[in-house]
Amino acid sequence: MNTETENSAARRLHGGCMCGAVTYEVADRFLYAINCHCSKCRRTTGSAFKPIAGIAPEDFGITAGSDAMFRHGDPDGIHDMHCGTCGSLVYSWIAENDTVKVHLPMGTLIDAPSIKPSMHIFVGSKAPWYEILDNLPQFDEFSD
Ligand SMILES: [Zn+2]
Ligand SMILES: [Zn+2]
Repeated sequence: MNTETENSAARRLHGGCMCGAVTYEVADRFLYAINCHCSKCRRTTGSAFKPIAGIAPEDFGITAGSDAMFRHGDPDGIHDMHCGTCGSLVYSWIAENDTVKVHLPMGTLIDAPSIKPSMHIFVGSKAPWYEILDNLPQFDEFSD
């Protein structure tokens, strides 16, 4: 049972980019967490997949370095925000179907969130050199 009091008392987590120029604060109130194996996520991070945690925009805020960030993507739609100094992907702005979510690459979190990735998505385009070794459900594309 989530009361208003419990919600507003959600733990605040900190995170940021590799060089420390950009920092953020986020409520530990994530809506979902997924491992995305799509080629865009793989290339953006240089990793086998990108663990993403979804959060409502009002639960997320940049606390330092926002003026030095650069954007990649559609300013009015889906775009990525990177640190202008080190280039780290700090968050993605997912504006579609009249809703907005912030997607945090979970590797940028300094504090541990209470949520963990619950599934693998876009496994149909995963890196052939990477073998998924856990028992989480796998989806060829995206499923919500
Ligand atoms: Zn940086
Ligand atoms: Zn992806």
